[in-house]
Amino acid sequence: MAKTDPVIIVIEDDPSIRRFLRTSLGTHGFSVFEADTGKQAIVEVGVRKPDLVILDLGLPDMDGVEVIKAIRGWSAVPIIILSARSSEQQKIDALDVGADDYLTKPFGFGELLARMRVALRHSIRPQEPSQSDIFITANLKVDLINRVVSVDEQEIHLTPIQYRLLAILVKHAGKVMTHQQILKEVWGPSYQENAHYLRIYMSQLRQKLETDPTQPKFLLTESGVGYRLKIW
Ligand code: CA
Repeated sequence: MAKTDPVIIVIEDDPSIRRFLRTSLGTHGFSVFEADTGKQAIVEVGVRKPDLVILDLGLPDMDGVEVIKAIRGWSAVPIIILSARSSEQQKIDALDVGADDYLTKPFGFGELLARMRVALRHSIRPQEPSQSDIFITANLKVDLINRVVSVDEQEIHLTPIQYRLLAILVKHAGKVMTHQQILKEVWGPSYQENAHYLRIYMSQLRQKLETDPTQPKFLLTESGVGYRLKIW
């Protein structure tokens, strides 16, 4: 394995999923290391300095959310969580304490690769801010310097809050954001309980930006979790 291969740590206690990820990621040019407990995971992340972490939330010795908190104490490494369908609240907690994205088991390998690409891109973006001044996805264009939003080259007028909501999603494009994270960034910490604001403004944004607001192409709902601005 070449030294430049991105280093991935797979934290998962199910040996069949570990084997699948080791083989599949290996053939896609990733250097894969493994851990099967939370304690081992924290040590591995500290020692290997990985480019990305894939973390199963259901570990035998520790809650995966606690593993994320420990890692976030010293590292900003992208973390993609794997969760069982039944653990919705755990998934939200994991995103709120700093996980970057999630996949629900069973997941497709193509979907995992797509999420990994987004997470890896976000982790290097802070060093190159000028590249993200103009954001384009599908027929939507957002000029973050001049605060101009257009659909099919037609300028769309947004209210200040609608624009702020869109800009937050653009900033985290491709990644899932929880309701709490969006509320905190758009309205500040004191509005975190008012999830209905978010539904209203998201619906307004879809009315203005989506060709068919009932079948959104880029302003996607992550059911029970939050929203994601899809990159096309
Ligand atoms: Ca497990």
